[in-house]
Amino acid sequence: MTTTDFGALGLIEPLLRTLRDENYTQPTPIQTEAIPHLLSGRDLLGIAQTGTGKTAAFGLPILQHLADGRQKPQPKTTKALILAPTRELAIQIAQALRTYGSRLDLRQAVIYGGVGQKPQVDALRRGVDIVVATPGRLLDLMNQRHLRLDGVTHFVLDEADRMLDMGFIHDVRKVVAQLPKDRQTMFFSATMPNAVTGLASDILNDPVRVEVTPQSTPVDRIDQSVYFVEASDKNSLLTKILREPAFNKTIVFTRTKHRANRVALQLEKSGISADAIHGNKSQAARQKALKEFTNGRTSVLVATDIAARGIDIDDVTHVINYELPNVAEDYVHRIGRTARAGASGVAIALCDPSEQAYLRDIEKLTKQTLTIAGGEPAEHDPANANQRRGSNNQARGQRHHSPKPTSNKPNGSGPSGRRPKNRKFRGQKQNRAA
Ligand code: AMP
Repeated sequence: MTTTDFGALGLIEPLLRTLRDENYTQPTPIQTEAIPHLLSGRDLLGIAQTGTGKTAAFGLPILQHLADGRQKPQPKTTKALILAPTRELAIQIAQALRTYGSRLDLRQAVIYGGVGQKPQVDALRRGVDIVVATPGRLLDLMNQRHLRLDGVTHFVLDEADRMLDMGFIHDVRKVVAQLPKDRQTMFFSATMPNAVTGLASDILNDPVRVEVTPQSTPVDRIDQSVYFVEASDKNSLLTKILREPAFNKTIVFTRTKHRANRVALQLEKSGISADAIHGNKSQAARQKALKEFTNGRTSVLVATDIAARGIDIDDVTHVINYELPNVAEDYVHRIGRTARAGASGVAIALCDPSEQAYLRDIEKLTKQTLTIAGGEPAEHDPANANQRRGSNNQARGQRHHSPKPTSNKPNGSGPSGRRPKNRKFRGQKQNRAA
């Protein structure tokens, strides 16, 4: 395949050249479906998770429109506005757009809270082509008259379901109220609960609907397994698992910030380089932890759900759910940190007896039964135990299974020792150049 695939979508040469440099040989499904409609000016409702290539799906058409007959933006205005729920995601989107637009002469600003506002205000003063922002700080700067939205021609709402979960929906509506009616709107969400559907129908105008098919969602490409373990044995099991050399870039998830700190400390004490990332850390500390992890100086990042949302780090080899999330959708988001854009990955859950109900919710949502890597479900949950015994017997043929979690030896290529499944986007570049 060549970049004529991207060319056939109607993209201009400077963008095609950058895609070639980035080694994007073939558009992902959401890019193939969305880009022609977006280039023609339609609104879009995209149902897709992070990792599907959605940033380029909306970013490339916006860049192309803005580059076409570009007029300088007015002071304190922007032409494109992209809203994201977290600062990490905002920074990543901005970085991606900077890369994709590197051959175009466009100005960009990224706006998020938790840091001083002066550099952001300075960046807006002359006016910009693109603003990527989290809603709270954006409203703050708008209220202080550092930015007006009356020049916006392109609006993207990313991860709308997460905006809702994080309580940003009112802020989002306040922002939308300031936008010109005549604009192109792109709306992305991994899930479509009623409130999100309502918001979508309020802000979109006759949108094209693009849903990335289940086969291409990361969950199917991830080798998933579970260890049944007592809560008090989780630390020693985690250390044992992480000592395996294959686990060279692992994200460990906890439910709370406090636990994230404790787990990271415990790992450091055991001689495993680890850092924690969560909402109580300063923006600088979070960025530093991400950088050290990205460049391989720390091999384990311990994260809470919100802090990890939207993290786009290439080559995450494993995701370990030290604690299972009590919201099943979060499991899907968590394990999506591995298996980015076509790569396959490994996800391991450590499930104590109090978490077995969460596990059942997860399996119901993903329509998959996780393979047992070690331990047995607690006896007080007979329904689950019976179901498990069945799946465990099946698994025995494929993998080494031992009944006590502490005696498990995680296999280097993943807990199952199986080869990764076929990839959906084989032959594609899987990493974005830093
Ligand atoms: P996203 O879902 O936008 O966060 O993209 C996930 C990852 O896929 C990022 O690291 C992108 O650089 C990468 N990516 C996006 N589109 C492509 C493509 N067509 N070929 C290869 N990698 C891609």
